[in-house]
Amino acid sequence: MARRKKKQPKLTLGKVIFSLLILLLIVLVAYFGKPYISEYLEDNHDDDHEKVVSGELSIHFLELGNKYTGDSVYIKAGDVDILIDAGSRGNSADDIAGYLNEYMTDNTLEYVIVTHAHQDHISGFVGTSSIPGIFEQFECEVIIDFPMTNATSKVYQNYVLKRDAEIEEGATHYTALECYNNENGASRTYELSDGIELEILYNYYYENKTSNENDYSVCLMINQGSKHFLFTGDLEAEGEEKLIEYNDLPEVEVFKAGHHGSYTATSTALLEVIKPKIICVCCCAGSDEYTSNPDNMFPAQAFVSRVCHYTDQIYVTSVADDSEAGYTSLNGNIVILSSAEGVTVNCSNNNTILKESDWFKGNRKWE
Ligand SMILES: [Zn+2]
Repeated sequence: MARRKKKQPKLTLGKVIFSLLILLLIVLVAYFGKPYISEYLEDNHDDDHEKVVSGELSIHFLELGNKYTGDSVYIKAGDVDILIDAGSRGNSADDIAGYLNEYMTDNTLEYVIVTHAHQDHISGFVGTSSIPGIFEQFECEVIIDFPMTNATSKVYQNYVLKRDAEIEEGATHYTALECYNNENGASRTYELSDGIELEILYNYYYENKTSNENDYSVCLMINQGSKHFLFTGDLEAEGEEKLIEYNDLPEVEVFKAGHHGSYTATSTALLEVIKPKIICVCCCAGSDEYTSNPDNMFPAQAFVSRVCHYTDQIYVTSVADDSEAGYTSLNGNIVILSSAEGVTVNCSNNNTILKESDWFKGNRKWE
């Protein structure tokens, strides 16, 4: 059987000219079109999204086992465990430890951050005569605390003793200012897990004196790709003003309400920059611990009147009541889960947002 002869393409002048024109067109597009193509790519490319976000992040705003206002936030990023502050009274240590032990397997807190020297943030590190403090219950690798304080209280002195004992046992200690300045081995940012980092922000009051102890608070951001989570301790309006001035703050997914939802913090100036989607308040709602003016009890009416313009996704740990303990859970432990799929809220008691709660309906106005 005769092999079929392959038909040779016939080269004509028309085909040559056509091919040359196509070639010329490709060259022209590549040369003159390049800036437009680059611009298009830049417009449609967010630097943040390029970062890998594979690790899961959970942030836990803890109840503290008593009726007192206080802060303790546990953060788990992959296998890295972080504790920010340790609550209101020495006995908070057991409640915090009990909670942490449900999530931790190696008894090691890679980072412990202590925002400022007030009792409601440091008591759990100290513990009581019968309850060991957090420094004794866990191995703490890196302790980052406030560079400045005016504190002379017994609980502060005990905090320093217990902290220094932990350093003696091998913990590394930096102030937030050393971190911000990348000094003495400290870092401004710490990679926690795939794509999740801890960033120490600059607070003017790390190195300038103020009579307001709250404004000495260590401020930090957890960054997970394009998602940001802001913690400012008990920083108040003046400190927030400096925070905005000295840091290029992004919009955030979650903001821990400044100073437990006080009328003196969470200023409109800050809200206008960070535009939080979720606000978590660590307090015992309606407690008269610090004031007899019902409007100023945490979370204060003035706080509500500012945040209501930004979000209604507000969660509060506890509420004061007439029971023997003097408190009960409002949302309870507030747990934020964040992964590539998004951010969800899962509280231990219920997920009712503040403005839908019975306490709110009886005590606050959404305006
Ligand atoms: Zn406080």
